[in-house]
Amino acid sequence: MAAKVKNTGAAMPRLNKERGEFLFRNLAAMWQGRHNGGYLGGLIAPQQEHMPYDARGNSELTLRFLTFAALVMRGSVRSDAVLAFVHEFWLCRPEYFDLAVLAKTRPEDLLEAFRTTAEKTYPQRINGFVGSGPLSYKADEFARSLVQNGKIITREFDGDPRRIFAGAKSFAEVMSRTRLNGIGTKIMSLWALWLLEFRLIEESFTVPGVVDFHFMRLLTANGVVEFETRPLREVITQQNQKRFSPHLHHHHAARVGQKITDYIAYWSAELLEELGLSSYDVSHGSWFHSREFCKRYPGNRATSNRGHARRRDLVITGFADLEALRRGIGWPDRPNYCSGCPLASTCKLSIPNVSYYRTGVLIVLGPRVKQPTTESPIITDLPRDFRKLREAKRLEGLARKQPAVKAPEDRQLPLLLSGGP
Ligand code: SF4
Repeated sequence: MAAKVKNTGAAMPRLNKERGEFLFRNLAAMWQGRHNGGYLGGLIAPQQEHMPYDARGNSELTLRFLTFAALVMRGSVRSDAVLAFVHEFWLCRPEYFDLAVLAKTRPEDLLEAFRTTAEKTYPQRINGFVGSGPLSYKADEFARSLVQNGKIITREFDGDPRRIFAGAKSFAEVMSRTRLNGIGTKIMSLWALWLLEFRLIEESFTVPGVVDFHFMRLLTANGVVEFETRPLREVITQQNQKRFSPHLHHHHAARVGQKITDYIAYWSAELLEELGLSSYDVSHGSWFHSREFCKRYPGNRATSNRGHARRRDLVITGFADLEALRRGIGWPDRPNYCSGCPLASTCKLSIPNVSYYRTGVLIVLGPRVKQPTTESPIITDLPRDFRKLREAKRLEGLARKQPAVKAPEDRQLPLLLSGGP
């Protein structure tokens, strides 16, 4: 059973149920269609791809791997990179996947184990901000919270993390059972999905959507969530303003704090339950679609000093020029990925790929621009990483296999967020 949407008292964004239904049905269809060469055909979820071979088919080891991965997952890191690193850590230091051992470990020893694993895994990139792999961003904090959470699960749940979820009547009940350091609704939702996927717990409650950047971008661009936006300089702390070149500070943005994330998570659980859809399908559809397709829409591009800076010194230096795109400048010499997208009729905003992870703000550049010269709706040139995962024949007719879910009437579109650029 889904939990009721919590009213936190903070100014919450408006939510459009009709648009939510359209988006969720399409995302679920995208992910479900992967088995027969459909829109996301051939893709493998990272928790499957990076599951160690000795843990496959072994529920105890699978639980250990997923628990460790969930406990180091954060909004500030890429989940597939974390799972790949946790896989390496499993091969190098398997003892730390035992919660009883973890609970008695000194954080500095764990940190050193991260460092030596990273040294072995990324020898060519050991200097600079990738020094400890994807965990290097606040690696000491990860080590401390891992040990602390290991202690909490050992003490409160007899070392069995399944007890956090087992038999709960709602997601709110899961969240009320414990308070793990650094783990909010997003990671708890993801963790629950993994445990359900590997049949480590029974389904007794509705898991919310995993409210990460990709989910938020799709909800916002497709008019499901309507934020009040204000100039970046007004919604961001002075410290975080340094992460953007000053000439970008006039762009409009919405701050997405924990209360808003929770509000949207509980709302999504209600809607998923009502529609009979699974968060597993919708969340995976959202993650893959946004990171592979939306990311490549030229209006979602941003530039940074990455490559010349350590991660903590990373600065966003530019955003896509929507006016130039409108004039036909800056498009690839082939149909862009939006041209075959099932969401093209409702996706109305340009939301760049950057900043959310580090600063918690969603930049809204303006209305999404359609490629003026697109003639064919068929995508023929998929991203390189898709190529690795698909058979070439699956590329044919990709756009024709998109899920056929009817878009809501256009009159409903909230479109330009109030105060937009
Ligand atoms: S139209 Fe483009 S930006 Fe919008 S959801 Fe589709 S791929 Fe993403």
